[in-house]
Amino acid sequence: MADLRPWDVVTAACSACPYFSTMPVSRLTANRPPHTLLINLQHQLVCTRCKNRTKNRLTITIVER
Ligand SMILES: [Zn+2]
Repeated sequence: MADLRPWDVVTAACSACPYFSTMPVSRLTANRPPHTLLINLQHQLVCTRCKNRTKNRLTITIVER
């Protein structure tokens, strides 16, 4: 996986309802160790709409600067 930069965009999608949200990487990794793996974060995601916490997905959008 390529190194993420703080301005890259993460999309978190719920597997149980149509909800998804986007946020900058810098917000996702705030208050976490610097090298937290996204695969680990995926397992910690909780949908803010339906509280589902299984099979949620993170996808990265690389933003050029
Ligand atoms: Zn949901």
